[in-house]
Amino acid sequence: MLYWVSSLDFARDEKGGGIKSLFENDMSMIRFLALALISALFASACQSPPKERKVVFILLDGIPADVLEASNTPYLDEIADETGYTRAYVGGEKGGASESPTISAVGYNSLLTGTWANKHNVWGNSIKAPNYDYWSIFRIAKEHNPNLKTAIFSTWLDNRTKLIGEGLPETGNLKMDYAFDGFELDTVRFPHDAERQYILNIDEMVATETADYIASDAPDLSWVYLEYTDDMGHRYGDSPQMAKAVELADAQVGRIWKAVQQREAQYDEDWLIIITTDHGRTAVNGKGHGGQSDRERTTWIVTNYPKPLPSFYQNPGIVDIMPSIVNYMDLTMPKEIAEGIDGEAFIGR
Ligand SMILES: [Zn+2]
Repeated sequence: MLYWVSSLDFARDEKGGGIKSLFENDMSMIRFLALALISALFASACQSPPKERKVVFILLDGIPADVLEASNTPYLDEIADETGYTRAYVGGEKGGASESPTISAVGYNSLLTGTWANKHNVWGNSIKAPNYDYWSIFRIAKEHNPNLKTAIFSTWLDNRTKLIGEGLPETGNLKMDYAFDGFELDTVRFPHDAERQYILNIDEMVATETADYIASDAPDLSWVYLEYTDDMGHRYGDSPQMAKAVELADAQVGRIWKAVQQREAQYDEDWLIIITTDHGRTAVNGKGHGGQSDRERTTWIVTNYPKPLPSFYQNPGIVDIMPSIVNYMDLTMPKEIAEGIDGEAFIGR
């Protein structure tokens, strides 16, 4: 519209005879202006309202970047397409104040809070004294809008009860709207075996439930945690068993991805899916993790977001995921919470 007005101005200046001189008579000018008005009204009426934005982030435990890249992962490849894959890192600033062990719960909490261990204070899987002053993404979402629906689908109960800190006064009695977890504690239904088949069975169930629940209920913000890959890493290290576990995880993600695509096809929804891991593994045999070696620190991120910011391709940290979700969902948070975040969003607002 601005261009149209200024070109008329230009024409008027050139001819010096006013707008009317462009037209043969008053009626043609009126017709022209009426047509322009109708087109403008029509254009604004056709602009559909913004789609609802929903997020699911998935953590596949303990898959080094080189292992992922060497594995057959058709679904992750499809989700990433041309632009949505990058190597990333965990472990904070090596040798600096934020250096954090490359241990599972430490990484999960860095994802949830956008901070390193020197702030969130989870240094190992026993999760002794988390500092809930650094809010999780779930608390940020709920404080922004209590009507946003949150969900967790997880093969480890502590993710909800200790890291998210559901129901604790320190988290403002944060409540998840839907939880599908804790099955690893049910030794009757899932007898524990050395080959960790029971963990694979639980992962399968968790992934299937995620897909079903997203298809039916479409929570606004979901976390999916799957464990089996880490178990195979610990047991077999770099091995065909590990590669197979990665392929199984890819298929589980594929089910969730299909549910997301189904939602987008049927409803006015835009979905962000982010998949990552919590640490790499030792270089010598791929069995251990926890230290600061390059392979233990090197992770990866897959997302369907088509145009991440340039920082996405410049070795982002696991702490960058949380502020990216904040931007995608357009969440607001208290100044002191925003200022405490270590990560930087790779998705613009
Ligand atoms: Zn782990």
